Order: sequence, then structure tokens, then C-alpha cells
Amino acid sequence: MEELKGKVVLVTGGTRGIGRAIAERFKEVGATVYITGTNEERTKNVAEEIGVNGVKMNVTDREEVKKVVAEILEKEGQLDVLINNAGITKDTLFLRMKDEDWDSVIDTNLNGVYNVTRAVVPAMIKKKAGNIINISSVVGFTGNIGQVNYSATKSALVGFTKSLAKELGSRGIRVNCIAPGYITTDMTEKIPEKIKQELIKSIPLKREGNPREIADVCLFLASDMASYITGTVIHVNGGLF
Ligand code: NDP
Repeated sequence: MEELKGKVVLVTGGTRGIGRAIAERFKEVGATVYITGTNEERTKNVAEEIGVNGVKMNVTDREEVKKVVAEILEKEGQLDVLINNAGITKDTLFLRMKDEDWDSVIDTNLNGVYNVTRAVVPAMIKKKAGNIINISSVVGFTGNIGQVNYSATKSALVGFTKSLAKELGSRGIRVNCIAPGYITTDMTEKIPEKIKQELIKSIPLKREGNPREIADVCLFLASDMASYITGTVIHVNGGLF
């Protein structure tokens, strides 16, 4: 992992859960890490706690994204790894889904990935190197009751990843996807205990995953150990799918 030392890594949605674990993991190997979140104070506090840089950047706000990415590039001169992790759920049955539930999930989980990636890629092309990792989900492959909006965005990230990998491969940029299964974070706290227990029974490894188990795969994908891997999805779900 020596090659990751000094690399500049941007993790969207790094204030909690999987994003925070990813930031901590990259920090451990000596990377310069930026985390982002929607609330300035919270983002700065978490960043300070884990010893990384923290910036308010709402991924749905295209202008703010452009400004923040430009500021990082101005300061660091490069952006080597982008982890598109920020994501939300607004779970409800399709017939009860409000337009706002649909729009906000698409806006954060899909448009947000476009906004940040669009802002970052020109600098990677210029450097003829870069690594983009998109956090999809097992439900993008299996579907799930109550998650039509969410699973649609997570499937979309697969097409996004594969197409972008084809466009950017010749520029030295790798683009991959991780599809986590059931990982213990604030997001899964919302699932009722009874359903959680049922879910765990259906996982071959008989337990939830932890955010660090996703962070480790990010580190692998960003490292030279994955130098011939692009346009792919790595499933990290305890055998669930
Ligand atoms: P959490 O709800 O714990 O954390 C979500 C993170 O995203 C927070 O840091 C939050 O920051 C940030 N965020 C939300 N909206 C925005 C926005 N508009 N702009 C910038 N940041 C935003 O989620 P997880 O850690 O569980 O999930 C992380 C990713 O992994 C998501 O993409 C999720 O879909 C995916 N995933 C999670 C699974 C799980 O089981 N936990 C399973 C499969 C996929 P803040 O609130 O501070 O603004």
C-alpha cells in the first residue's frame, strides 16, 4: 500500500458509517483525505476527530461541488482517488411513494455521483491517472420491497461505472463499483429489529458486515494490487447475493 501514501483522496459523505471508515482506512496508509457532508460543523468535527480534512459539500449542489473540488485541486495540485459514497434512503412502498421521495434519492445517489465525478475527472485526465470507486448496493442487483427509488439509483451506478471505465481506461483512470450487502451503520439502524434478524438468517456468513470491511475493499481497488481491474463490481455481502 506504499503507493497510496500522499495520494489525495476525496470521500463524499464521510461523516458517518461506511464513508467515515473509508476515510480512516486511507488515512492509516498515509493518504491525504478529504471528507464531505451536508453540514459544515458536523463535517469539520468528524474530520478533526479522525485527523483528515473536512469540507461542507452537498453532492446535489452542482455549483458547490465545482467550487469545493476546485479548492482541493488548488491546494493539493491533484486528486487521485474519488469515492462516491454519499447516499440516502427514503424507503416506502411504490404506491405510497411521494414525488419528493423519488426525486431526493435520485438527486443524491445518482445526480450527486454525476456532479462530483464530472468535476473531478478533468484533473485526472490531465494527470493521466486516477481511481474512481462508486458505492452501489446489493439491492441494485436483487431489488427490494420498499426501495424502488433507492435500488434504481444503485443499479444505475453499475451502468455509470462500466461506461465511464470504457471511456477513461485509455487515460489511465480506473472506475469500479462496490456493492455492499447489509452493513451496520445509521442507514440500517432504521430497519426494524425483527426484519433485521430475518435478514441475518438469510446471509450465509450469518452476520452483518461492518464498515471497515467495505473500506478494505476500497483500499484494494485504489491500490496497485488492483491495477488490471476496471469497470467491475465487487460484491461484499457475506454471500447474500
Ligand atoms: P449513512 O446514512 O450512515 O451515511 C451517509 C453519509 O452520506 C453521511 O456521511 C451523510 O453526511 C452523507 N450524505 C447524505 N446526503 C448527502 C449529500 N446530499 N451530500 C453529501 N453527503 C451526503 O450511510 P452508510 O454509511 O450506511 O452508506 C454509505 C453508502 O453505502 C451509501 O451510498 C449507501 O447507499 C451505501 N450502502 C450502504 C449499505 C448499508 O448496509 N449500510 C448497503 C449498501 C450500500 P451528512 O448527513 O453528515 O450530511
